Amino acid sequence: FDELDQAMANVGNDWDAVRGLFGGKGANLADMQRLGVPVPPGFTVTTEACNAYLEGGGVFPDDMWDQELRALLAIEKNTGKIFGDSENPLLVSCRSGAKFSMPGMMDTVLNIGLTDETAQGMIRLTQDPRFVYDAYRRLIQMFGAVVMGVPDEPFESAIDRAKQKAGVSADTELTAEQWHLLTEQFKTIFHSHTQIDFPQDPVEQLKMSTEAVFKSWNGRRAVDYRNAAGIAHDLGTAVNIVTMVFGNMGDDCATGVAMTRNGATGEPGLEGDYLINAQGEDVVAGIRMTRNIDQLATEMPESYRQLQEIARILENHYRDMQDMEFTIEKGKLWMLQTRDGKRTAQAAVRIAVDMVEEGRITKEEAVARVSPGQVDFFLHPQFDNQAVAEARAGGKVLARGLNVSPGAAVGKVVFEADLAATWAREQGRQVLLVRPETKPDDVHGMLAANGILTSRGGRTSHAALVARQFGKPAVVGVSDLQINLVKRCMTVGDLTIQEGDWLSLDGNTGEVFIGQIKTMEPDIKDPWLIKLLEWADRIRSLDVMANADYPVDAGRAREYGAQGIGLCRTEHMFFESERLPHVQKMIMATLPFDRREALAALLPFQREDFAGLFRVMDGLPVIIRLIDPPLHEFMPDLVELINELADLKMRVNHATNMADIDSLLQQIRGKERIRQRTVQLQEQNPMLGLRGVRLGIQIPELTGMQVRALFEAACEVTREGIRVFPKIMIPLTTHANELKRQREVLEETAKKVMAEQGITIDYKFGTMIELPRAALTADRIAAHAEFFSFGTNDLTQTTFGISRDDAESGFLMSYLNQDILPDNPFATLDRDGVGELMRIGVTKGRSVRPDLECGICGEHGGDPESIALCHELGLDYVSCSPFRVPVARLAAAHAAL
Ligand code: ADP
Ligand code: MG
Ligand code: MG
Repeated sequence: FDELDQAMANVGNDWDAVRGLFGGKGANLADMQRLGVPVPPGFTVTTEACNAYLEGGGVFPDDMWDQELRALLAIEKNTGKIFGDSENPLLVSCRSGAKFSMPGMMDTVLNIGLTDETAQGMIRLTQDPRFVYDAYRRLIQMFGAVVMGVPDEPFESAIDRAKQKAGVSADTELTAEQWHLLTEQFKTIFHSHTQIDFPQDPVEQLKMSTEAVFKSWNGRRAVDYRNAAGIAHDLGTAVNIVTMVFGNMGDDCATGVAMTRNGATGEPGLEGDYLINAQGEDVVAGIRMTRNIDQLATEMPESYRQLQEIARILENHYRDMQDMEFTIEKGKLWMLQTRDGKRTAQAAVRIAVDMVEEGRITKEEAVARVSPGQVDFFLHPQFDNQAVAEARAGGKVLARGLNVSPGAAVGKVVFEADLAATWAREQGRQVLLVRPETKPDDVHGMLAANGILTSRGGRTSHAALVARQFGKPAVVGVSDLQINLVKRCMTVGDLTIQEGDWLSLDGNTGEVFIGQIKTMEPDIKDPWLIKLLEWADRIRSLDVMANADYPVDAGRAREYGAQGIGLCRTEHMFFESERLPHVQKMIMATLPFDRREALAALLPFQREDFAGLFRVMDGLPVIIRLIDPPLHEFMPDLVELINELADLKMRVNHATNMADIDSLLQQIRGKERIRQRTVQLQEQNPMLGLRGVRLGIQIPELTGMQVRALFEAACEVTREGIRVFPKIMIPLTTHANELKRQREVLEETAKKVMAEQGITIDYKFGTMIELPRAALTADRIAAHAEFFSFGTNDLTQTTFGISRDDAESGFLMSYLNQDILPDNPFATLDRDGVGELMRIGVTKGRSVRPDLECGICGEHGGDPESIALCHELGLDYVSCSPFRVPVARLAAAHAAL
């Protein structure tokens, strides 16, 4: 570890390359050593060697083994101990470590170098046979598991039997003699599973361990983890050989893990767990009750102080929250690992902001460190407060555990990862994965589940780490749960929960509830998030607007930081029950007079809709799109209509009273007219039919009414002192002449209203670009439009010629599975096709109108990857649903960084 400077020089002082070569663990161990942090002597076998071994079909590359032995010699010199020596034996650990941290993915073998002979030497040296046999049996167990694939159970049950026989409950209470006996039993177990004797040659132990770590890179759980985390498969793992230090030599020894800040909340200060008189994995395995790191301050104040100091040094050096592993041997603190700590979304945001305020990082770095997904997490469901209060009062709290990963999750209990994946993925069920503890083999089930619940383990357990990384709500260490994996049920007291029963868990409080609890969307009032997003706002050049039709949505959008309304869909307003009859009357009207009357009835409604929106958006622009969908959407269902007619006709046949007959006939005539009109409006391809601007040209009174309502509302709120900036947007333009024609009619109405009201409104007139022809002729269209809004839902549909209403439930999914399409184009903008049309649209549009405002208002407006493309294309804004606004603000900043 003391040759880091030289290694750095060899790769042009590129820290990333060093991490690639030594793995994160190895690079950081050497780095810590250089910083003067106490690290046991050791060396790293590079990932290069691992890859050569794997590519060479399982043969060590030339000279590698000799180099490893030479490095071992250097450790011997450094420690004054000798590997395999019967007097003063050197023991080492063999630890995997890839470039990216893969918690618990590949195993570590501790105490390598112990044999029957060296054990005797260790006993003479330490005068502590209990410790030596405990260490020796661990070696047999770990070597068995990692190198030879021997299961843990026979070893663990041997320990359980020994404890039972001795009448003790804790491992630490077993005597030297009992551990000696267990060591012999372990050798027998080893032999019965492997058909070989436990190797008594330390060099052989080291060689086999090195090889096992190499091979574990391609083990199933490592491959699964890399797939889930998006880590490349060709990086390989390094192997770290580290002098053993012992946390299990008595009560002045300990081992633990600590984070420099709280990984769940981001709060400053050490957070972690430790065990007195224990070794390595005991803490993470959750076998013994761990102590909170705060307690170390009173139990071993000097070590605690030193740990705090090291935490400070490491944070200063790495400029990020660290996750550290340490061991205290007879009062001396040793650091065994450090890496950037995993954290929840909340913690990620708080730590990034705090670090700026502590002067450790810049605002740009803070913004870059938080992902759009993490911001999105603040918008995930949480339990409805009222529902939780009721559940608590109603005795529905089943148990409590550690709140290790926030968010609310509801689902059916499943006890096995494979089944969780099947239920969730293939049968679309909501599931919670419930396990005594989780292992790397369970990751696919954890990803499929809504939440994770374990009866064992702590804040640093596998379940907690993985849940945090993937943003899954999780509660762990619920010790009241008795899980019976054979009967597939669990009990708490005398209550039994079967597999398939509903449970709800709260990753914020650690509570587990019986049944399903109502969830709600949270408010994003987190002060750190607010600050981070303000920094993002100063970095980004794209504006972020919201798609909102109603004042409540507009209000939320504004609260979330939207800079205006990028899309208000006016037709939503037509579907409301008191308005629909007028809409239908308007559609049915054959005489201009009837049509005007129906529209006049609609006008006040529409005016109030707009006025409400303007009031909420005081001072900000509001883009109002005139009516878009085909008219038949407003008409009654044809099948129902035909049934009603049949029914009426039958009643006429049976009627005897003349008055009844008259009334029935009149009804039939009315319905028949509606039926005929509805049939007339039917189209084979309604999405390519009479809609958008075509409708406005066909029925100019309709769009005229909308514009009148808009300007009357604008004048009304202006009188109230509201500042209003309306923008009228025409949908589905395909030819410049359509726009020219509509604009003449509409601007005439606008001028008339402004004259009537004696108020001038500052407005703009523009169009959506959502058909390929519009994009291709954008220069002509821009002659009549002051702004463009790319309607990428329709533009994707018409560019691909794939119906977005059917595709996602049809062949598109199979296209994605077969990699015919790289991404779902309705979720992520298709750069090459749709993106190219947008580029042409922007370029041609601005060629005739340099100040042409361009934006996007499809679903893509909230997708980070699409936002990056919009930034690249030089758009002025993106518009998305209110709930995506915070995500878009951050994504737009990332695009600008
Ligand atoms: P992982 O990648 O799973 O965290 P590590 O290589 O960090 O595996 O090893 C797991 C644990 O084993 C460490 O946290 C540490 O407690 C213990 N350990 C590893 N090497 C040594 C050593 N040389 N001396 C003492 N304990 C060690
Ligand atoms: Mg491990
Ligand atoms: Mg570790």
